Amino acid sequence: MTSPLRKPFIAGNWKMHLTLSESVALAKEVRVGCADGGPEVALCVPFTAITVVAEAVKGSPAAVGGQDLHWEAQGAYTGEVSAKQLADAGCRVVIIGHSERRRYFGETDETVNKKLKSALGADLIPIVCVGETLDEREQQKTYRVLETQIKGAFMNFAPAELSRAILAYEPVWAIGTGKTATPDQAQDAHTFIRKCLARGISEKLAAGMRILYGGSVKADNIDSLMAEPDLDGALVGGESLKAANFVRIIQFRTQARMERKA
Ligand code: PEP
Repeated sequence: MTSPLRKPFIAGNWKMHLTLSESVALAKEVRVGCADGGPEVALCVPFTAITVVAEAVKGSPAAVGGQDLHWEAQGAYTGEVSAKQLADAGCRVVIIGHSERRRYFGETDETVNKKLKSALGADLIPIVCVGETLDEREQQKTYRVLETQIKGAFMNFAPAELSRAILAYEPVWAIGTGKTATPDQAQDAHTFIRKCLARGISEKLAAGMRILYGGSVKADNIDSLMAEPDLDGALVGGESLKAANFVRIIQFRTQARMERKA
């Protein structure tokens, strides 16, 4: 169970799915499942759906997010969208450095760092994604990869500037594969990430930063994941497209690990 310092956060990543009418229908169903007093919720939708989804969830605890942004405020960058444009369209959140962006679109730790600066400058809540591939895990490089990605993303920021930032630990081998990290594997990575933040930035930031787990999160594994003390929420891909399953994920039932074992 997460620390009271950190309010749980559940984000859906719709990726490149759904038409506008399908988006509105799903957002309305999620809205019904979001209770006041529950976790913070964000729907990270395709750029085209931001305004209609923002309208559909207006006045509810659910926020809308983008899935990427460009680091410049404006300019001749065909096909790109800036932080200010996301905020203007109704976003409060943005995903940065998702492994699919890293793998297919050349995202690097350096571009993640620049995008983070831009997102924070526009008052967006950034969800910075980090995670190792299967190869890296099998070669015992998980910690090294996580440390490099975190250092790269958070380089040249004062701790106070990062207080709004969220990290998502997303092992690449678990994304879209149905192969979820076990609660122990996830907790181990989250503990390491928190230690990294404490060592490299500040103890206070490490204690307060929300770290989400992402990678084949489902209605039937969210409760055991959220029972881990350093898991503060989830970034959910495939299951965020199924209203009932996503609502069940939002309504996770935690039972602290110690209680489970007693
Ligand atoms: C993701 O896209 O960030 C993700 C975790 O996907 P899935 O839940 O489908 O594994």
